[in-house]
This record gives sequence, C-alpha cells and structure tokens, in this order.
Amino acid sequence: MQKHSLFSMLISLVFGIILLMVGCMQTTQTDPIQISDEHVVVIRDDLGKREKIIPYEGKPSQHIDQVYTTEPFMAITFNGLNEDEKMNDLLHKLKEENIIASFFLTKKEIIENKEIVKRIIEHGHTIEISNQESYFVRPKPWKKDKKLQAIAAQQKMTAVIGHSIRPRDHDLKDKASLKNYLGYALSRGGIISLDVKDFPQVLDSIDFIVEEARQINYSMIPLDELIAFGQQRKPFSEIPGADMIQKNLDYENEEPNIFYAKETEEKVVALTFDDYGSDKTVLEILQILEENDIQSTFFLKAKNVTRNPNLAKYILEEGHEIANHSYAHKRSTELLPEELQEDIVKAHQVITEAIQEKPTMLFRPPFGNIDESSAKVISAVGFNNIAMYDVSSYDWNPDYTTDDVIHRVMDNVKPGSVIVMHMSDDIKNLETLPIIIEKLTLEGYKFVKMSEWFDE
Ligand SMILES: [Zn+2]
Repeated sequence: MQKHSLFSMLISLVFGIILLMVGCMQTTQTDPIQISDEHVVVIRDDLGKREKIIPYEGKPSQHIDQVYTTEPFMAITFNGLNEDEKMNDLLHKLKEENIIASFFLTKKEIIENKEIVKRIIEHGHTIEISNQESYFVRPKPWKKDKKLQAIAAQQKMTAVIGHSIRPRDHDLKDKASLKNYLGYALSRGGIISLDVKDFPQVLDSIDFIVEEARQINYSMIPLDELIAFGQQRKPFSEIPGADMIQKNLDYENEEPNIFYAKETEEKVVALTFDDYGSDKTVLEILQILEENDIQSTFFLKAKNVTRNPNLAKYILEEGHEIANHSYAHKRSTELLPEELQEDIVKAHQVITEAIQEKPTMLFRPPFGNIDESSAKVISAVGFNNIAMYDVSSYDWNPDYTTDDVIHRVMDNVKPGSVIVMHMSDDIKNLETLPIIIEKLTLEGYKFVKMSEWFDE
C-alpha cells in the first residue's frame, strides 16, 4: 500500500514536471512579445533564451492619439496599477458608471499582480500588451515611435495608442483644477490617459470625467469600439481645393477685396465667430444657433484645430461654414510676406484636413489687423476676399460687462453688418449671444452665412 502510493507520487511528480515544461514552452512559444518596464518591446526567439529582433519590412501599425469621428464618444485608458484597495475602488467606480476601460500594463506588473489583473478582466476591462489577446500597445515616453509601430504590426496588434487627454501633462494642483481641466479637455473621439501608479489623483477623477462628459452628452465606450468609429481621412493633397492656396510672392499687382459690410437696405446680418474653444463652449454656441435656426461662419485659429479636428468637422456638419483665421494668430501687418503666407497656407492645410473638404475661401486676419500691403500678400496666396467686420462685440474683453457687449452690437448694427463674436472659453459669448439674437430678431434682422455675399 505504502509502496504503491510512493510510486504514484513519483509518477505524479514526473508528470507534473513534464506538464510544467510543456506549459513553459507554450508560454514562450505563443508569447514572443516581451515588454520591459519601460514598455520597450523586444522580440525573443521561440524558447525565450536569446533576444532577437526579427526584421520586419511590412507596413507599420497606426499610431492613434484620438479617433477621427464626430460621434459623441470617448474612451478611458489607464496606465499601471496601484495598491489593491485603490484598484478595487477604481473597479467599483467604473462598474457604477458602466464604463469599460483599457489597462496598459507592463509584463512585470501583470506577473506581480495576478490577482488584481484577474479582477480587472473579470470586470470586463481589457488588459493591453499582455499577451496575444492584446490589440494595442502604448509607447513610453508618450511619443510616436516608428519602431514600436512596426513591432505592433508584426505582432498583428491593431494600433499603438497615444492619448489626447492626459491630466498629468498639466500643472494641476488640486481637485478643482483637475476638474476644470477635464471640463475643457474632453472632446469627441478623445482618448483619455490616466496614470494610476504615478498620478493616483486620477483615481478620484472618474466622477469628474463622467459628470463633465454627461453635461455635453458624451459617453465613454471601450477603446476598440471607439477606434471602430474612426473615419478614414483623405490626405490633404487628395481633397479638392487643396491647391487653391499657395505661396506666391508676386503680390504687387494684387487687388484685394477688404470687405467690412454689405451695402444693402435689406435687414440682414452675418453673425460670425472667431478663434476656437473647447467642445463644452462650442456645443453651447451651436445649440443656441440651432434653436434660432441660424447658420454662421466660423473663422478658425488652425493651431488649436490641430488638437481637436473633430470639433471643426462637427461645426460643419451642423450646417455652418468654416473659414481661415490664420494658424498662429499673429498680426498680419507685423509678419514678413513669406511668414504671413506660410502661416495662411499652413492654416488652410490643417483646416482642410480637419473638415475633409474645401473650406469657405475667406480669410479673416487676427485682431482685424490689416493694411494695404498685407492685404495684397494675403490676396496673392489665394484669398482675394478678406473678411473683416463692422461690428465688434468685444465679448472677449474682461473690462466689458454683459450689457456693454450687447450695447456694442445693438448700437452699431445696420443692414448688411458683419458681427464678430468669439468661440473661446470663459468669455461673455454664451451669456450675450441669446440676447443679441433675440434683440436682432425683434428688430427684424435675418441671419446669413458670410459666403452668401461673395461669388467664390
Ligand atoms: Zn482671433
């Protein structure tokens, strides 16, 4: 009896070792991607003994910072882990808010925290860069990394994931500033990146994120679903009208049309908006315009569009028109002709790519700053019509009260006026716009898009 049991123990032990060996071999064979603490990826050979970079000549996988979509969705991603208790709190909050997130972990983190990793998966979230189930990998430092994109493609991963919203990049001293940042940073198609390990304040920010998102009717969806919403974007050169704006220093004989207002007896005005703002502010402007059945012309500061192209496209989809308000928002008269043209050409490219069609071919100089010579330079580049205004609301000016802004518009408006307001955050646009529209309507004014006054 004793002998038999000793024998069977020995058999079990041998079998156990064999199973263990097979297990190890399987792990290394099916898991050739190894990610170190620094998220550096090396490919090992089948038995995992030697480091070996396998040459890869195929097309690299894409790098995604944000998804090009006008759908009101975003995704939440986390980096690293924290103490079990904090992680449990986090999972609990995510469950309460019905959010499925993606956790980007290093191999070491996964191995050392098996229990919590298991719990994350049980909650329906995804673990990335862990094994062959991973579809995404995240670079560190947070820059585009061509080598990583190649490796990701080689591993049949969908994409290298960056981020468009990362609280840690900003100097956020307390909860209030974190909340404030999130309020303005949230944008459709956004990928939110939260550092659980090194910036645990974010564990408290889930409530803010959800609340701020809810206020603008945006919701969080899983990363892979968000990416599936991504629209194919044509490169600039393939979009009709791309070549309409080109540097041209032969400007002396240009005859620019510097347009301030339309000569007419008819009670019509063009209500226009300059610069750029957050989704939060711009959605409110769009809402007010929609309620009043008004279509406007939006002159975009292109530098800000690079960070949030989806909003530009959304404004267009809402029936408004998009025009050029420079790239860097510098005074036209203070730039050299080459610099001025370079800036306008760059803005044209950014805006065209964002909206994926030819913008309205009007240029509005920053600060309304123009003279004959800079107007010629702008005309030569392809913007013969320089879209000025005769009624400046001063909605941006902190020295003006709400009443001052309304008076400035109502005292100066006349048939054919071009009124300028701004899209920026935290100015007097949102409180004055409905009143200005109401007063103008009562006086019998109708609203037109500015392009209706030009033959393009
Ligand atoms: Zn401006």
